[in-house]
Amino acid sequence: MPALQSPGKVLVTGTNGYIAMWVVREFLQQGYSVRGTVRSAKKAEHVQKQFAEYGDKLEIAVVDDIAKEGAFDELVEDVDAIAHMASPFHFNAQRPEELIEPAVNGTVGILESAFKHGLFVKRVVITSSVGAIVRDEPTPITFTEKDWNQQSLDLVNELGEKAPNMVKYRASKTAAEKAAWKFVEDHKQEIKWDVTCLNPPFVGSLFGPAIHELTDPASLNTSTKLFYDYVADASKAEAAGNDFLAKNGTCWVDVRDVAEAHRLALEKQEAGGERIIISGGLFKWQDFIDMANALNPPPKLSKPIPKGHPGSGTGHPHTVHLVIYDASKSDRILGLKYRSMATTTKDTFADYQVRGW
Ligand code: NDP
Repeated sequence: MPALQSPGKVLVTGTNGYIAMWVVREFLQQGYSVRGTVRSAKKAEHVQKQFAEYGDKLEIAVVDDIAKEGAFDELVEDVDAIAHMASPFHFNAQRPEELIEPAVNGTVGILESAFKHGLFVKRVVITSSVGAIVRDEPTPITFTEKDWNQQSLDLVNELGEKAPNMVKYRASKTAAEKAAWKFVEDHKQEIKWDVTCLNPPFVGSLFGPAIHELTDPASLNTSTKLFYDYVADASKAEAAGNDFLAKNGTCWVDVRDVAEAHRLALEKQEAGGERIIISGGLFKWQDFIDMANALNPPPKLSKPIPKGHPGSGTGHPHTVHLVIYDASKSDRILGLKYRSMATTTKDTFADYQVRGW
């Protein structure tokens, strides 16, 4: 029997975010009702407009501080499941705590609320990240769900504010996911629901069209901005250089596959208690550039698209970002089928074109 079935009601935190908007759409399209949270009424406007056709199947609540005790108490009372996605994702934090505190307290806080007030909750899916898995090594390494990024936690403890910004973000995701599993362990005799953590690749690796509020390419989020710069904007790609485009890349995934994974993680009974890597495979920037140049009809953008050195990415040894994620569990448990590079490229360029970029 599925853990959750449509129609049910899902609480989605951080609803206005890049990934969350696709997650909300996935649930609404599959017949679920959604209660979304945003930090201010202003941020609800675009969400409501985007999903107007679903009427009262979508409601939005303002939670100005996810870390405040009891912030979600009332919001979990009548929901069947929770997708906790709100977490700071930027590289501007001075003190590591600026990221770690909201990430950890928001996660523990929503689990506390579900524990005390979530009478009907069957499962909580948490958007973690491979940031909670990966560590830097001098040689290529394949990571699985058994790996934990203790390295970033240690570095943040040792270096504090001087830790690299990427390390601070990774530490926040590691600490939040660890806190979630600790909560489950500490309350395993009493809680009636279970937890699934999803671990998609991050930073320069989560691509696809956008439906959250955007004004221009500069307003794209971290990962999709890199895609625009290196795959759609010849001047930026040329500044990076052909060698960079041929050698640089990591593992990637389409945002819509991540959204589908959130729904499947709530529905598939076997996903309970699991952390699951969500990754579509390896890429080099040149691979996507080649896909863009093969589009038929060619995209009509306001700027020329880069050419790079065609074919130089494919088969290039994976030696710059030395990570490979084993995503076999996402197939085994969720049955997730990943979109191809060609599909992601086609749909992303169609999105740029509609926006007049
Ligand atoms: P966005 O920045 O687009 O969305 C983040 C969401 O979290 C926004 O709604 C944001 O609200 C909210 N948020 C951030 N900080 C806080 C806070 N202190 N209190 C309350 N809400 C907050 O990011 P993504 O959609 O890319 O990321 C969503 C989730 O997915 C995050 O948990 C992120 O760590 C994770 N993730 C992202 C990946 C990526 O490459 N994009 C990959 C792997 C995981 P507001 O708009 O008001 O700031």
